[in-house]
Amino acid sequence: MKVIKTIGALRAAVAAHRRRGHAVGFVPTMGYFHQGHVSLMKASVKAHDTTVVSLFVNPTQFGPAEDLARYPRDLKRDTAQARAAGVDILFVPTVEEMYPCPAAVSIEVGSMGDILCGAARPGHFRGVATVVAKLLNIVQPDAMYLGQKDAQQAEVLKRVVMALDFPVRIKVCPTCREQDGLAMSSRNLYLSPAERAKAPAIYLALCQGAKRIADGERDASKINSLIKKLICDGTGASIDYVSCVGLDGFRIVRRIEGDTLMAVAARIGSTRLIDNIVVKVR
Ligand code: AMP
Repeated sequence: MKVIKTIGALRAAVAAHRRRGHAVGFVPTMGYFHQGHVSLMKASVKAHDTTVVSLFVNPTQFGPAEDLARYPRDLKRDTAQARAAGVDILFVPTVEEMYPCPAAVSIEVGSMGDILCGAARPGHFRGVATVVAKLLNIVQPDAMYLGQKDAQQAEVLKRVVMALDFPVRIKVCPTCREQDGLAMSSRNLYLSPAERAKAPAIYLALCQGAKRIADGERDASKINSLIKKLICDGTGASIDYVSCVGLDGFRIVRRIEGDTLMAVAARIGSTRLIDNIVVKVR
């Protein structure tokens, strides 16, 4: 596996694989790999001759009071994990390489970027859309692998790809969880042992919400209240949002009809965690 730091060298390396007729899969990440990241890498490795993984903690998707400075980083460990997953190229650009001058051009994602995580993190999806568009132009892959864990991000990126005609397929892979149900996340590292013990409440509450829907409840506010209560009772978590989102159009819904995403962002201590599950309503 090659570790590449510059855009020029990355383009040359991908071109060499292309000359051999290779199909290229791409996994954008911010590093500090866990099994969720590895599952995306393995899915790409399985389906493509060449897999490129980017590792870039993108400053433009963090708000001023967010965790950019303390975001976990461990290049040595990440390199070993990517190599073990069969990745061919690990692209690790510096901030200066990606943003040689202050970004004057960015991609606006419209109202979809203002709901759920976008409401709490203004400009977050603009930052995500812009950096992923840059990475797609740099790597020019056949397919890009994303995680369902960040469902809104995947939806925003699907729209960017469609709106700007990027010739890339998007594959969304299932959320990888710890044994107790907690969605794997680089940010789980921030949790103290006591907080870590409480964190599975988020997924368990989502499962209870899904069960209530399966039992016939269609009023989203009742489902949201149930999930909030189950998370807050006993964990002391503060809720950023609990919402039901219709997957046809990705809009917050009052009545549950058709495939629905139940999405949560909650703070356990000072750590903001997100999770979601999809319920299929016929
Ligand atoms: P990140 O490094 O957190 O920006 O994530 C990089 C990619 O990994 C994104 O497409 C995420 O959705 C995906 N990802 C993060 N956590 C998980 C998980 N637990 N299961 C599956 N994919 C994940």
